[in-house]
Amino acid sequence: MIPFTDLYAQYESIKDEIDSAIKECITDSNFIKGKAVADFESAFAKYIGADHCIGCGNGTDALEIILKSLNIGRGDEVIVPALTWIASAEAVNNVGAEPVFADINPKNFTIDINRFEEKITKRTRAIIPVHLYGCPADMNEILAIARQHKLFVIEDCAQAHGAEYYGRKVGTFGVAAAFSFFPSKNLGAFGDAGAIVTNNAELANSARQIANHGQLNNKHRHLVVGRNSRLDSLQASILSVKLKFLDEWNSKRRNTASSYIARLKVSAGLQVPLSEDNKKHVFHLFVIRCKNRNAMIELLNEKNIAWGIHYPKAIPFLDAYAYKQHKTFDFKFAGILTEEILSIPIYPEISEEHVNAICDQLLKYQ
Ligand SMILES: *Cc1c(COP(=O)(O)O)cnc(C)c1O
Repeated sequence: MIPFTDLYAQYESIKDEIDSAIKECITDSNFIKGKAVADFESAFAKYIGADHCIGCGNGTDALEIILKSLNIGRGDEVIVPALTWIASAEAVNNVGAEPVFADINPKNFTIDINRFEEKITKRTRAIIPVHLYGCPADMNEILAIARQHKLFVIEDCAQAHGAEYYGRKVGTFGVAAAFSFFPSKNLGAFGDAGAIVTNNAELANSARQIANHGQLNNKHRHLVVGRNSRLDSLQASILSVKLKFLDEWNSKRRNTASSYIARLKVSAGLQVPLSEDNKKHVFHLFVIRCKNRNAMIELLNEKNIAWGIHYPKAIPFLDAYAYKQHKTFDFKFAGILTEEILSIPIYPEISEEHVNAICDQLLKYQ
C-alpha cells in the first residue's frame, strides 16, 4: 500500500521536539492567547516576509475575516477561480457578498488572467487568486488589472506555504493573504488552524479585533461585533516546530515532483505539470492529466496506490451553487479539466522506491 500522504511519518521525524513543545504548552497552561501564539505569529510573518500575522481558527475563517476587515459584504462581488477548494468561494457568501467565478488557465490551474477582466462589474470589490496545488497564480497580470479597476487582491495561500513568485513568497502580493494549517497542508497543525498575513497595519488591527470578539488590546472593550476564531497555543507551538522544517519539506516535495516529471513526461497518455519561469511551485499536490482517467485509476488500484481528485467538480457546478444556473460552456477549462485530473502521492517522506513503483505503474497506461 502506498498512502496519499503520511502524517505519522512526519511526526516521527521530529517527535522529540514536538513532544516537548506540547509538554511545555501544557505546563504553561495558557491555552488561548498564550506566548506560543505570539511566537508563531512573529515567526510566520518573518518567514513569509510580511509585517503582520494574525492566527485564527482555520483557513476559511482567515478569508472571511479578511473580507470583513475590508468591509466587503452585501451587494458586493468578489471574483473567485472556478477550480479551487470550496472555501475560497464559501467565505465570500458567508460575509453576504457574491462570488463571481472565472475560468482557469489549463496550463497552471490558476485563474485565467484573460477571463478575469470580463467578470468585473460596478459591484466588484476584490479578486481572490488561489495558488492552487502550490503553484503561484499569475500575480503580475492580476495585480495590474486589479490596480486599474481599484480591486483588492486577497491571496488564498492555503496550498502554497513557501511558494515564490519572482523570488518573493506568495502571501506578500495582495492586500492580505489567507493561510490554512489543516493537517495535510504543506505546513499543517494537529487539527484546524489558520492565519492572515498582511503589510497593512489597519487591516491587521481590524482582523485581530474581528477574530477576538471585537476586542483589540483591552479585555471587555468590544469595539465591533466580532466572532471567535483563534489559533490556540497548542497548535501554535506545534506549528513553530514544524515551520523550521518547511523549506526542507518543500524541497523534498519539489525533488519528488522532478522525479515524477522526468519519468512520466515521455508518456503520450498523460500530461505532467508544466514548469514556469519565475515561479517556485511547492507541490502541495502533484496533479496529472489523462484522457482516460478510469483506466489510470484501475492501474493505481491494482497496486494499492492511493490517489485523489482535486476536485471532481468545478465550484460553479456544485449543488451549493446551482442557484447561479451555470452551464458547462461557461467555464470551458474548469469543466474539461475536472474530468481529466488525477492527484498522485506526494509528501516529503515518500520513498524513492514508492515514487518509482508509482511511475512504473503509470507508464503502463497507453
Ligand atoms: C484548505 C483550503 C482552504 C481552507 O482551509 P481550512 O483551514 O480547511 O478552512 C481554503 N482554500 C484552499 C484553496 C484550501 O485548499
